[in-house]
Amino acid sequence: MTSPNILLKAWNLHARKELGQNFLINPAVAEQIALRAHLTPKDVVLEIGAGLGALTTAAAGRVAKVVAVEKDRSLVPLLRAELLAGGWDQVQVIEQDILALDIKAVADAQGRRLVVMGNLPYNISSQVVVKLIESRQWVERAVLMFQKELARRLCAGPGSRTYGRLSVMLQYCADLNLLQDLRADQFHPRPKVDSAVLAIQFKSSIAHPVADEKKMARVVQAAFGQRRKTLRNALSGALLNLDSASAAAALEQSGIDPVRRAETLSVAEFVNLTNTIVNFFQ
Ligand code: SAM
Repeated sequence: MTSPNILLKAWNLHARKELGQNFLINPAVAEQIALRAHLTPKDVVLEIGAGLGALTTAAAGRVAKVVAVEKDRSLVPLLRAELLAGGWDQVQVIEQDILALDIKAVADAQGRRLVVMGNLPYNISSQVVVKLIESRQWVERAVLMFQKELARRLCAGPGSRTYGRLSVMLQYCADLNLLQDLRADQFHPRPKVDSAVLAIQFKSSIAHPVADEKKMARVVQAAFGQRRKTLRNALSGALLNLDSASAAAALEQSGIDPVRRAETLSVAEFVNLTNTIVNFFQ
């Protein structure tokens, strides 16, 4: 793999900050991530933001196929040329915004659920997580590189100041495993923050499911939207269409003291609360 610096210069290109372009410098690091992802020859990888192909080729050597999505039109010819030169004909490049991609259509075309990988552009990381949660019927698991703080936030539990909306929604449907940290000097250009690789294994079944996942998302949004308020106050309002007395009653009926705050509730308590609201207060 030619170094990103040299490749970009040769093609008269520059890393674009607005697209979160921080390219992996060291092929050995890409190999390490692919190794820790436990890829198998049957897997089909959907890669988010292939860039210059560092992770793409590390994954391609281990799986049946890589569908590599890249939004930057000016970068795609370079990526295709690199893949052609390396003989990586099991890689299909799609020039598109991942947020607009129909994941179901990709999985259907491959006839199996996908393994999603990527060194994510930081500005869309949270949106990607939400999209994967919503698309998990077609996604078996994901191995993704995040800003270190976001990776920690996704894994945080109740009682932690960083525990929030995405931690609850993701932990509800997936088991998480932090695989490794990566220092900023592993990238060109060097970002201001360190990164971490997180494995997200979507659960095959959920022991205590919510009756309505969209409702749970709104309960969690309302609760953390005003995280310093008591839950009784945070939950009352237009988002859930509950007045203060009904919010208190729903909390009490779920075995939750109405003066607690969102960051103290476990995922299971959010599930109970959502089900109480769906069953008795709508
Ligand atoms: N995978 C490469 C690597 O590890 O060196 C590049 C990673 S770089 C952090 C993120 C890549 O995502 C860039 O190539 C960028 O152009 C691309 N990208 C940014 N926004 C995107 C989007 N909405 N959809 C698809 N790709 C995107």
